[in-house]
Amino acid sequence: MAPPWAVGDQKFVGIVAVWDTDSNFLAMNFTVTGGYTVDWGDGSAAERDAWSKALERDTQLVRLLTPLTKYFATEICDDLTRDAMQVLGGIGFTMEVDVAKLHADSLILTIYEGTSEIQASFALREMGKGALATLLAQVRGELERAGADDALAPLAERVKQSCAAVDEAAKILFSDLPYALLRAKLVAEMVINLIAASELLQQAQADPSRRDLAEAFVIRRMLENELGAKRIAQNHAGRLERDARILGRY
Ligand SMILES: Cc1cc2nc3c(=O)[nH]c(=O)nc-3n(C[C@H](O)[C@H](O)[C@H](O)COP(=O)(O)OP(=O)(O)OC[C@H]3O[C@@H](n4cnc5c(N)ncnc54)[C@H](O)[C@@H]3O)c2cc1C
Repeated sequence: MAPPWAVGDQKFVGIVAVWDTDSNFLAMNFTVTGGYTVDWGDGSAAERDAWSKALERDTQLVRLLTPLTKYFATEICDDLTRDAMQVLGGIGFTMEVDVAKLHADSLILTIYEGTSEIQASFALREMGKGALATLLAQVRGELERAGADDALAPLAERVKQSCAAVDEAAKILFSDLPYALLRAKLVAEMVINLIAASELLQQAQADPSRRDLAEAFVIRRMLENELGAKRIAQNHAGRLERDARILGRY
């Protein structure tokens, strides 16, 4: 359905569908440049079905990506301001420079408007309801396109393998809910690593000056993901009972 007044070749980022009283409906495709394209549907059953599926898929993604975004943005703010303070040494700790205040302020971000633990548990719930499969399908599609570039193909393959590892780890988690809640932050970070790796590979495809950054990120973070998947698999059996014994003993 190519709308006659589509605004150039802009990246699709989301849809809103609104049914009107005559059973025709209007769909607006928002784009990264802030413009939008508009499709008037013909109200056919096939078209309604297609839009319903797209809406369901996007709703699933929004419900998963919202807590992941709050989790990631606030945790990274804490890390970055802490590093910035360390780089400045003793002067960074004093209130003579702004960095200590920025770090102090950042500490609340992971607590209010939903703590990191709560965001991770919301994300986990959405993953369990099918959003992880939807997200992984989207990431795999993006990696397929990035992998068409020979220079990026090995990196895209590495991220694809990590998608499979995260998928496997998630199956273990969903078979044991108390253990899954214990590991919610770890799995949230693994999924964020996949999303960011895929995004950086797309940027590298569009702009070769981003390739070193994409490569560095993929190598480091996919290693972290492999380790995370192993931790989930190997620590699974008896973990909660072990923790209970440790806490009881000390
Ligand atoms: C400066 C500031 C401004 C605020 N502004 C507002 C505001 O404008 N409006 C408003 O409504 N509130 C506000 N709050 C409150 C804020 O939203 C809460 O502090 C926050 O939701 C955490 O709740 P809590 O402090 O009761 O911690 P708790 O719920 O007691 O949590 C303590 C710790 O346990 C963890 N935890 C709790 N439950 C679980 C679980 N089920 N699984 C895993 N871990 C868990 C938490 O992640 C946290 O690490 C503000 C707080 C501060 C400090």
